[in-house]
Amino acid sequence: METGKADCSSENQDRILVVGYSCFDLIFSAPRFPEEDSMSRAVDYHKRRGGNASNSSTVLSQLGAKPEILAVMTDDEYGKFIQDDLKKNGIIFENCPVYAKTETPFTNIILSLSAGTRTILHYRPKDYPDNSVDDFRKLTLSKYKWIHFEGRGIPEVLKMIDVLDGWNSSHIEKKILYSVELERCHDDVKKLISKGNVVFVAKEFAKFLGYTCATSTLQGLAPLVQPGATIIVPWGEQGAVARSGDGEIIRSSAYPPKAVLDTTGAGDTFIAATIFYLSNNKTLFEAIDFGNKIAGAKCGMVGYLGIN
Ligand code: ADP
Repeated sequence: METGKADCSSENQDRILVVGYSCFDLIFSAPRFPEEDSMSRAVDYHKRRGGNASNSSTVLSQLGAKPEILAVMTDDEYGKFIQDDLKKNGIIFENCPVYAKTETPFTNIILSLSAGTRTILHYRPKDYPDNSVDDFRKLTLSKYKWIHFEGRGIPEVLKMIDVLDGWNSSHIEKKILYSVELERCHDDVKKLISKGNVVFVAKEFAKFLGYTCATSTLQGLAPLVQPGATIIVPWGEQGAVARSGDGEIIRSSAYPPKAVLDTTGAGDTFIAATIFYLSNNKTLFEAIDFGNKIAGAKCGMVGYLGIN
């Protein structure tokens, strides 16, 4: 195992770290979703770096932040594509472990141009490693002003949060704010509800918990988060609703694009833009409204370049 390299040695507390997953996406745009066992033509295709943390890092970079990703890297053909693309986008990945002889996770995505849907088929190689607390311990935490944890590999993420909480309690003046993302519909993801200054809850996860709208999700989860934590629930074309640490409910409507071309990563885009604003001391309303604006713009374009 070796470590990826990038050229950032600054000790300023100016980086936003995103801890999560990176994979290779092959995206087809089709007039409509194909019939099973049929042959049809796509109108376009794109190769892209994907995965929640990877997508959010791209958006942060487009917005002018200084993003770093902590994700497992590979060195096969697709792994090299991912590392080249991180470099091109100015995303720091110097602390990512690189696993030789490990296949890169691969996603096939079909975008239906008539329905605006995205259908995802994901391949995760057997025994693909998760991020580990050992990798997290190697970070110089004083470089980060915000850390976002994508909710996967929960046992290790909980250990990382313990390390971060420990660091924060001995560096009161440099406290690092952090957020968690509840999206994957697994029981162990519930363990993240009580963690973080900001808890992002995806609508899939809210439905998994039995909630039917963003507001009931906020009401149901409010007693379970840390005292003073903010809960944010993005809800597709309805926009987003948030509950501040002192219980105020804040809403912002979506910004629908002229045509929905690619909703892949809409949630990751929303999270990145919202964190970008929160980490720059904007209000909660300004932050979720900016999240909706940037995520809406993203839905109207393929990919992320030029999103701002
Ligand atoms: P995901 O399914 O990727 O987790 P959501 O569907 O909840 O994400 O959408 C996240 C954000 O993206 C929404 O809060 C909204 O700002 C934006 N968004 C998603 N779909 C649309 C749409 N059809 N029109 C405008 N904005 C959208």
